[in-house]
Amino acid sequence: MKILVQKFGGTSVANLECMKKVREKVLAGLARGNKMVVVLSARSGETNRLLALADEWSNTPDKAECDVLVSTGEQVSIALFTMLLKDAGVRARSLLGWQIPMTTDDDYGRARITDIDSAKLRAALEEYDVLVVAGFQGCTEDGRITTLGRGGSDTSAVALAAALGSVECEIYTDVDGVYTTDPNICSTARKMDRVAYEEMLEMASMGAKVLHIRSVEFAKKYKVPVRVRSTFTDDPGTLVTQEDSSMEALLVSGIAYDKDQARVTLHEVPDVPGIAAAVFGPLSEKGVLVDMIVQNTSLDGHTDITFTVSRKDLNQTLAIMDEVARKIGASEVVHDVNVAKVSAIGVGMRNHSGVAARAFAALTQEGINILMISTSEIKITILIQEKYVELAVRILHDTFGLDWDIN
Ligand code: ADP
Ligand code: ASP
Ligand code: MG
Repeated sequence: MKILVQKFGGTSVANLECMKKVREKVLAGLARGNKMVVVLSARSGETNRLLALADEWSNTPDKAECDVLVSTGEQVSIALFTMLLKDAGVRARSLLGWQIPMTTDDDYGRARITDIDSAKLRAALEEYDVLVVAGFQGCTEDGRITTLGRGGSDTSAVALAAALGSVECEIYTDVDGVYTTDPNICSTARKMDRVAYEEMLEMASMGAKVLHIRSVEFAKKYKVPVRVRSTFTDDPGTLVTQEDSSMEALLVSGIAYDKDQARVTLHEVPDVPGIAAAVFGPLSEKGVLVDMIVQNTSLDGHTDITFTVSRKDLNQTLAIMDEVARKIGASEVVHDVNVAKVSAIGVGMRNHSGVAARAFAALTQEGINILMISTSEIKITILIQEKYVELAVRILHDTFGLDWDIN
């Protein structure tokens, strides 16, 4: 049985007209002799609407109930779309996460997939030509509904592709591929024909929301080729695949940015062993993910520790830090939410030095102050004031020769 997994994002299923475009893609897949698993997101704006409802009803919305609530967006999409398929005479049915089942852990709001009953899906594909699956959702072993984190339908799709041995996983969205940077903020961004899993992982984790980071982790682990393409064109899109030598020719292949950052500093922390554990231990216990960390050099036995977290975790982080500061004797805790990070990514950086220096020089020339820096083998990340983020993306895009060649 040849199985193809296709996933359509929120803008692709926004209304009847868009869903008819989606149906054309699915019918084309069937015409190529595939059995199809079609993963859908909630219609655009719906997940935000539901999350806002939760905040209206409760100051501290229960996480498990939040998942019951937000997962309904995808339920609406799959029911409506399956009706459209049946109108066209296709043997199709919808499937919610628990009906598969798509089993996850119980980390509500960002659950991880632990198992997919692929035998049951294969059996269903004997009876139906298309299974329309609700993305973003799963269920715990004891049957409670979970969601996989914002953008998680990509992960549902790639996980299903891995479990079913789909030749390729097609991710349909509102842009026709992965670009050198977000085409919606940089008009000179170029579409890439291919991108390495490693680079895509860094781009996704640095804020390029075109693919959910865990979907890329799955794709890399199970070697699933992922093709990002547009629902509204016939462009072949971008293939996310294993690295090859041609990809190393480029020093930097993409620029990503993330505005979901808040910076927290603990001033005058005693510079003694165990302090970092005392600061970051309580945060990790509460499930707060810390992103960038900088510790200043010691002055008179004291130092400053600065780190960033997601803005949604800021209040919780500040409450924890107030207690930590009192315990370890830090003088004060300050924070800033008007920050964002910009990253330059490329597997070519492994064999070249000087990328960071070029990036800093270009930003300095435009008067952009660098607040924090972090680097890895294939990326450099810079924290700056949020108001400069779009300018910084364009400057770095230009500095590393990624601009669209107008000639
Ligand atoms: P969907 O609802 O289909 O899942 P998303 O909004 O999650 O779509 O992702 C698509 C968006 O990702 C694009 O509209 C674009 O603004 C943004 N994006 C950010 N970085 C990139 C990039 N490097 N290449 C393409 N799109 C990007
Ligand atoms: N509907 C979810 C969200 O908006 C999941 C997704 O679209 O991938 O985050
Ligand atoms: Mg998305």
